[in-house]
Amino acid sequence: MKPLQELTRPNILALAPYSSARDEYSGHEAHVFLDANECPYNAPLNRYPDPLQRELKELVARQKGVPADNIFLGNGSDEAIDLLYRCFCQPGADNVVAIEPTYGMYRVCADINDVEYRPVLLDDQFQLHADALLAACDDHTKLIWICSPNNPTGNSMQRDEVLRVIDAFQGIVVLDEAYSDFSRQRPFRSELAQHPNLVVLNTMSKAWASAAIRLGMAFASADIIAIFNKVKYPYNVNLLTQQQAMQRLKDTQDVERWLQLVLQERSRLMEAFRQLPICQQVYPTDANFFLARVSDAQAVYDYLVHQGIIVRNRTRVQLCHNCLRITVGTRSENAELLGALRQY
Ligand SMILES: *Cc1c(COP(=O)(O)O)cnc(C)c1O
Repeated sequence: MKPLQELTRPNILALAPYSSARDEYSGHEAHVFLDANECPYNAPLNRYPDPLQRELKELVARQKGVPADNIFLGNGSDEAIDLLYRCFCQPGADNVVAIEPTYGMYRVCADINDVEYRPVLLDDQFQLHADALLAACDDHTKLIWICSPNNPTGNSMQRDEVLRVIDAFQGIVVLDEAYSDFSRQRPFRSELAQHPNLVVLNTMSKAWASAAIRLGMAFASADIIAIFNKVKYPYNVNLLTQQQAMQRLKDTQDVERWLQLVLQERSRLMEAFRQLPICQQVYPTDANFFLARVSDAQAVYDYLVHQGIIVRNRTRVQLCHNCLRITVGTRSENAELLGALRQY
């Protein structure tokens, strides 16, 4: 890995971050707060929240087995994705490499930040090849994007190929593990100490059943986290989100039950889908969705919309011609989908 100072944009390296009222006092005991021009009434919502979400990070640390110093929390994973560009990629000069097909936000954020995006096609098993990704890199490649289990294909990337990328790349490898809770594969976040150039993304939007609160996480070296903290909005995670997330993390019974239900339904739904006359192939998945090739994805999609059932039509995505991406729902939602498709 190149030194972090060399990977970081010069203006970010030199940045003097905004210092909030609460940053300046921290460390002292206090009970009268006349420093932040807040309203003194309507506790607790009248007060600015902790900019570093310390209490929440302690819970995340325990739940995920990652020290609090190695955790960034943001307004969805999307905030972390955008921050990676803003911290490390010089607009108009640097580039990033990514597997293709994958999650669309990596490219959108590249475009917004005027950073060249270099997609590298997966093979026909939707697997990545370390050599192909590394061959797409040059001296201006700052980030490599890997998503595993991958969206929209559902499969996990082969572990030894991912490791080869991490070990050989001189920049930062971002591994998006948004769906790792649904997978039996060992998550990479427990191996941060061995890989100073690794950033792992997690989210509360999928297995944690909390897409509405917008809480995403990045796990990385303390040095990378410090750069994120310098650039992020001071109060990027609001108090209601912090409170709701803490509640979820403290009582995980529901989440564990829902996870088991989704996994059971996933195998049932996939098996039934395979039997449908329209189905050509159901691809293996480690996520809470699966990709299926059908005879005419556009027609099936339109028919389902007409029935009030929305799936994701991925037919225009590379390697996914005539593919639908189907999220696993409740037993009755899945039954409704299958019933409609049997009538197609
Ligand atoms: C859904 C998803 C996310 C989650 O994004 P949030 O902003 O945290 O809701 C991240 N990465 C991938 C690949 C996803 O599919």
